[in-house]
Amino acid sequence: MNTSASERPLEGQTAIVTGASRGIGQAIARRLAQAGAKVACVATRVENAQVTAAECAKLQPGAQAFGVDVADTEAVAALCKTIASEMGGPHILVNNAGITRDQLLMRMSEDDFDAVIRVNLKGTWNFIKATTRPLMKSGGRIINIASVVGITGNAGQANYAASKAGVLGLTRSVAKELAGRGVCVNAIAPGFIDTDMTQSIDENSRKALLEAIPLGRMGQSDEIAQAVAFLAGPAGGYITGQTLVIDGGLSL
Ligand code: NAD
Repeated sequence: MNTSASERPLEGQTAIVTGASRGIGQAIARRLAQAGAKVACVATRVENAQVTAAECAKLQPGAQAFGVDVADTEAVAALCKTIASEMGGPHILVNNAGITRDQLLMRMSEDDFDAVIRVNLKGTWNFIKATTRPLMKSGGRIINIASVVGITGNAGQANYAASKAGVLGLTRSVAKELAGRGVCVNAIAPGFIDTDMTQSIDENSRKALLEAIPLGRMGQSDEIAQAVAFLAGPAGGYITGQTLVIDGGLSL
């Protein structure tokens, strides 16, 4: 990776990335570290985030691993205080942690619905709430990873689509609330990205999905991560309340 000074616009900034142990979150953490940010890599368990944190520390010293359930409001508040005192900031918050519990509505349990809303929507709110003060001080950035199904809906994903649509509404509302303090708040809505989350999709559904994507392929985690780095960097300074769809044309 090229790490020349001109390509390190986030030097001196601390970024929190949730769900950083693998997939899209891991790629985001790497990209932000490459751009010079000290990254707080958050996963459900600290040991799961350690590999990512070690990789990030090679790109920008100071990266650390943390473990928390993003749905646990008190634990998230305590963690954000620890991150602020140990690492400074935060200046950038990326809410990426997310789960699916896919099931047709008739078979979806209350627990399937609640679990997905708690992690994807309340988890995002928890981190925003716990970092608003330092983000206001630094005129920081919040980037929420939603999903294209939060816009289009999807059979078998009523819980997940509702949680991601909620994230889009949350993004626009917080963007309006914090704009006066110079904080930019945006969402990214990925389509079908090649990660562990999409590994479980059966062969027939995968084939049908690929046929529906105009660009004819799945996206890569780093294609989401590069957009996050763009929104977090100097080029993103006049963009707020927006949803950037990155789906190979799936939703066209
Ligand atoms: P993944 O399953 O590979 O990784 C999810 C990450 O979230 C993991 O690091 C996991 O530990 C973490 N996580 C889950 N529950 C958590 C909790 N309660 N507390 C803390 N961390 C928790 O998923 P991915 O494919 O990399 O997806 C990342 C984000 O992108 C998710 O929000 C997902 O909804 C979204 N997304 C993914 C796709 C896709 O096609 N892969 C498409 C659209 C949106």
